[in-house]
Amino acid sequence: MDSAPSPPGVAAGDASAPRRLDVERLRAEFPILRQRVGEKPLVYLDNASTTQKPRAVIDAIARFYSDDYANIHRGVYALSERATQAYEEARAKVRRFINAGDDREIIVVRGTTEAINLVAHSFGRLRVEPGDEIVISAMEHHSNLVPWQIACAERGAVLRVAPVNDDGELRLDMYERLLTPRTRLVAIAHVSNALGTINPVREIVARAHGANIPVLLDGAQAVAHLRVDVQAIDCDFYAFSGHKLYGPSGIGVLYGKAALLDAMPPYQSGGDMIRTVAFDKTSYNRIPYKFEAGTPHIAGAVGLGAAIDYFQSVGIEYIAAYEQELLAYATARLSEIPRLRRIGSARQKACVLSFVLDNIHPHDVATVLDNEGVAVRAGHHCAQPLMERFGVAGTVRASMALYNTREEIDVLARGLRRALEVLR
Ligand code: PMP
Repeated sequence: MDSAPSPPGVAAGDASAPRRLDVERLRAEFPILRQRVGEKPLVYLDNASTTQKPRAVIDAIARFYSDDYANIHRGVYALSERATQAYEEARAKVRRFINAGDDREIIVVRGTTEAINLVAHSFGRLRVEPGDEIVISAMEHHSNLVPWQIACAERGAVLRVAPVNDDGELRLDMYERLLTPRTRLVAIAHVSNALGTINPVREIVARAHGANIPVLLDGAQAVAHLRVDVQAIDCDFYAFSGHKLYGPSGIGVLYGKAALLDAMPPYQSGGDMIRTVAFDKTSYNRIPYKFEAGTPHIAGAVGLGAAIDYFQSVGIEYIAAYEQELLAYATARLSEIPRLRRIGSARQKACVLSFVLDNIHPHDVATVLDNEGVAVRAGHHCAQPLMERFGVAGTVRASMALYNTREEIDVLARGLRRALEVLR
């Protein structure tokens, strides 16, 4: 008998039937999902762009502003100490969540974009010299491409791009060939936002480390769908955003190995990142504060901590298993739709379905879907070179989260058939 108590949102099962997510119960925790679009219930399938927020996160932010808010790291009064404690607790939650070894390795930033820019500027200045190389992949979000392009232009370095195959999987053989004695860093997505491809990150890191090259992973699309253990992966940097993990926007994380962060120069400067300041010389604070100049998004950090608590209370194993089932269901439903071409069919995929419908513009498809209450993303998904690789200007992208249902996928499929009727 399975006598362990079920986590919230997980329906109890018996020994023969594994416990499953109680999705209806979970949905009730997300106030926004109750709304209608015109006459139709909202079907929110743009989760790769951002996720909706559960009551627990909304309440934690409201409670923090109502009861505990003050500036942090400065006040000697009780309220500031409480706010500081709440902020630092959030950092500790992040550390445990991704299994980092030390709170000093968790830098609180605005999001994935800022995290990557931080590394591109700071690590770039530390390590990248004219003629050096930085390796990315063809499936990168612009956030993990443009900062490296700029860093390369500024440092006189060269950007190398590992290709993907027709299924949207990284060509590991080609990737390995790009690793040379001039490579200073590899920067690759853990999960592709446009295709859903889950990259073999342990393998990617192992091959780079074999040549003494550090690796940054863009985890924006991974943390809400996979268990992430930065020590097991052994990456040197890991970036993610709170808003894709049921938390607030404007808050995110850069994990970095302490030895690297210690050696890197500050990214931004000002208050909080200093130890002593005189007109002729300034000494910097220790990590992580060296990289947290100015008053941060304090309530955002608290909200991120609450999102992590929420996510862990549901349980990543249940979430991942449920989402994989939903992905299989959605893939089957979409394969029944005539003239639908799926873009990205990697063997390891997160809950993302990208496709084009006949030769109809993705924006027109999304507009028809919107009339049915279905929110999807249409366009290049901030991955223009990848779209070019597949010979399309853009795709329609349906991306799922723990609160989506098979019924919603059915509504999507009906909407697509309707789009074929009205737009042909
Ligand atoms: N990388 C990937 C893979 C993403 O999906 C996103 C967000 N779409 C980003 C980076 C940028 O994240 P943010 O806008 O939260 O900084």
